[in-house]
Amino acid sequence: MERKVRVRFAPSPTGPLHIGGVRTALYNYLFARQHGGSMILRIEDTDSTRFVEGAEDYINEALNWLGIGVDEGVREGGDYGPYKQSERRDIYRRYVKQLLDNGKAYIAFDTPEELDAKRQEIQNFQYDASTRMMMRNSLSLPAEEVKALLDAGTKHVVRFKIEPDRDVVVNDLIRGQVTINSSILDDKVLYKSADDLPTYHLANIVDDHLMEVSHVIRGEEWLPSAPLHVLLYEAFGWSDCMPQFVHLPLLLKPDGKGKLSKRDGDRLGFPVFPLEWHDPKSGEVSSGYRERGYLPQAVVNFLALLGWNPGDDREMFTMDELIKEFSFEHCSKKGAKFDFEKGKWFNHEYLMNMPDDQLAEVFMPVLKQHVDASAFTRQYIAKAVGLVKSRVNFVNELWEQAAFFFRAPETYAEKDVRKRWKEGTDDIMRELIAVLQGIDDFSSKNCEEIVLGWIKEHEYHMGNVMNAFRLTVVGECKGPHMFDITELLGKEETIARIERGVANIHPVEA
Ligand code: GLU
Repeated sequence: MERKVRVRFAPSPTGPLHIGGVRTALYNYLFARQHGGSMILRIEDTDSTRFVEGAEDYINEALNWLGIGVDEGVREGGDYGPYKQSERRDIYRRYVKQLLDNGKAYIAFDTPEELDAKRQEIQNFQYDASTRMMMRNSLSLPAEEVKALLDAGTKHVVRFKIEPDRDVVVNDLIRGQVTINSSILDDKVLYKSADDLPTYHLANIVDDHLMEVSHVIRGEEWLPSAPLHVLLYEAFGWSDCMPQFVHLPLLLKPDGKGKLSKRDGDRLGFPVFPLEWHDPKSGEVSSGYRERGYLPQAVVNFLALLGWNPGDDREMFTMDELIKEFSFEHCSKKGAKFDFEKGKWFNHEYLMNMPDDQLAEVFMPVLKQHVDASAFTRQYIAKAVGLVKSRVNFVNELWEQAAFFFRAPETYAEKDVRKRWKEGTDDIMRELIAVLQGIDDFSSKNCEEIVLGWIKEHEYHMGNVMNAFRLTVVGECKGPHMFDITELLGKEETIARIERGVANIHPVEA
């Protein structure tokens, strides 16, 4: 019988969610939605030493911003909770006991100092079948001594007893069959009495089983743990309902040499986190896609294609299209180069395709930082952003391109003045004012026809006149089509700006 699809995204709240983690969450979500399954968000906080304040909220906020929906989790609730591992201690204790009772695990008392000493003594020391009898544990010590140590409350751990020299097979939907020999594995710590918590491996397996996870979809960095996980399933007697493993390709540095790291982002100037992160301890701020002006749809589209392709050269996908098209068959084994220029390109495309009134909405917070936005109608703002959007990659950059629509220039770019404002230019601009004053229909097309006609009739230099005109209205010789600008500004404002230009701009001596 086909199993109901249940997937989980299982981050550890040890800091801001890395962009690679976001991609893992996205693939889980796409797969769940495609199969009408459930997406679980499980917080793996069993390593109390690495816990970071605010990280869990950050994860929720990031997924929410990107539209990656969660069906079951700490906030959402669900029938398989609690969804935070630190609240599942009782459950783990039971399963640790089961392994101990069945002889699949044992108790070890070695102190960190003793372990260090062994590492000094034996090169490439590994706690395993070949060494465990030299150590202080419930296999090597007499039963009474073990009991006495436990009664005295001695700190200990529980280790998994790995049988050596067995071929362990991991079936992976992207990588096929991966076989490794169990002798290379060490007797992993599954539980620590010091904080009465299991380690990642035990908690992860127990929860995947109890939460009836059908597919474990996670980053390639977890592939080395998979054989151990297979053995744990076996030790619990759960091999028949083991989830299907899927290890996603690594995200690589832009040049393809090695794993993408936070430092690459700092070095090359792009965020590696979805949202800005303020480190609660160091106070350090790391930039995020949201604050940089990326649209969530663009980030989703960009991330989806880092490791997956549709089998043809299509690049633009909405979330719904991704849900339909996504498949592991088209995921690569090879790492995916993090091409952040492509990320910018996606954002540009999404800005271009967004209806102007929607773009105006996104632009509002930026606009409000600079001017009293209530002085402008929504329609005006929408037209302004519509005229400049082809020139930007990010929402934030819209201000630089569109500022002149919201306030008249106060200064004029010197290099443009030098080039375009000569003796006599002011007279021509005064004539232009008269021409404009005579125009009733101030639409772009009509103004253009009349003004260009006037320039030709007087045999003025087209470039000089139009650029001087632009200088007065925009403050520099750049921007969208001149008559689209004047149509939006309107007759009165356009003329007022030319008048101010005439009064304030003076030729610069060569
Ligand atoms: N807690 C692990 C992490 O931080 C989960 C790995 C897994 O998905 O098994 O990514």
